[in-house]
Amino acid sequence: MSQSPEARSFVAAAVAWSRTAEERHAIRLIRSPFSGVAHEVAAAYAVVGQRGGTLLDSIARTRLAIGGEQRDALFAFAAKLEELRAAGEGGASEEALHATTARLFDLAAGDAPSNSRTSGVAPPALAEPVAPEAGSGVRTRHAHFSASALNTYAECARKWYYRYLCAAVEDKSSPAAVYGTAFHAALESLHAEIPHPSDAAPEDLRRRLEGYVNAAFERYRNGFGTAVEYELQRRRAQRTALRYADWLAGEARRAPFTVVGCELSARLDLEGYDFIGYIDRLDRDDRTGNVTVIDYKTGAIAASASEYRDKVRQFKDFQLPFYYWARTAAGDRVTKLALVPLKNAQLDVRPIALEVVPVASQNGARSSAATGTISIAELERARARMVEICRELSSGDATSFGVTEDPGACTYCVYTAACANRPAPAEEKFGR
Ligand code: SF4
Repeated sequence: MSQSPEARSFVAAAVAWSRTAEERHAIRLIRSPFSGVAHEVAAAYAVVGQRGGTLLDSIARTRLAIGGEQRDALFAFAAKLEELRAAGEGGASEEALHATTARLFDLAAGDAPSNSRTSGVAPPALAEPVAPEAGSGVRTRHAHFSASALNTYAECARKWYYRYLCAAVEDKSSPAAVYGTAFHAALESLHAEIPHPSDAAPEDLRRRLEGYVNAAFERYRNGFGTAVEYELQRRRAQRTALRYADWLAGEARRAPFTVVGCELSARLDLEGYDFIGYIDRLDRDDRTGNVTVIDYKTGAIAASASEYRDKVRQFKDFQLPFYYWARTAAGDRVTKLALVPLKNAQLDVRPIALEVVPVASQNGARSSAATGTISIAELERARARMVEICRELSSGDATSFGVTEDPGACTYCVYTAACANRPAPAEEKFGR
């Protein structure tokens, strides 16, 4: 059967749905003209489905008041998805799933979308397209910049546009985000009470952090969707906290230090652009006075120091360079930048640390080591790029904001429903 790229893409989504029952495939299917569901009904159900529950659940509960032929088409679509899912669960082969999709959605008759066939509504007459409006430049409305805004821009300019210019969608807090907030709060309490970890016994650090984790999670309890979610995340934090306490005790034994502050406000004027942020933790070595900037990470981070350094060199991450320059401007001798992973309760805490040196080592450029070096010249280049980006975003010359080329950046993006030009997921590229 010869099929258009759109039909092949639809079949690919149907096969993916059969195999995984992932919601994103169901949404993609209903929004296709091949679904047999009227466009506006499909769009409305896609939004309702994404807000809670599943698409099929929303249809079964008739969460939107839709009647007549459109309702019939909707139920017919849901039944087809159920049949496809059953075929996938039954271990149907790729060819069998293709054939089932073609039969259910009447693709064998050609590539014409089936809306009109199943709904009985005549296809609309196409009008001549209107001439596109001339673009006019936009500029950021914010008086301050942040490293995370620049990171977003570096990752995907379109995402930055949606988030910082349009405020297009409220980014609902996720359990993972609440976990991070609560864990940060617990660590802040611990270090406020014990600024010299070397003064405390390891068991004492463990016991106190355990108490602070409990208190912080209780404070943020309402941020978790359910009591089970709350309990699971609290226990995960408890296990991670023990590893953190052990790591902290080991570091304090090795080289005693003072925690100068947590959630420390960092401000920096970069050639007239005002930057603001908060440093998770700032340590000062008791013997040398050298300062380490620490960023807690409760999500994914670079796997090695060289990988993180590459991200800085490629202008994909400005967080630690910003903190470096902010604290250097405040008079500190910053000699180390570290990311502390707090995501995986099964692993020991193993920070990704970069020592700031006049000339960075070229050895082990692809090393998997957790420690490495970064030169002041590299941090200066990051600073220069930050100024350049601020200039671009403030100029008012930008008339469009391109999408990322990395499909991975779209995986958890809240703007996927609005973003028509996003790159195809890697595994489905053949279908477009
Ligand atoms: S969906 Fe992808 S391309 Fe679109 S804004 Fe989000 S990250 Fe950028």
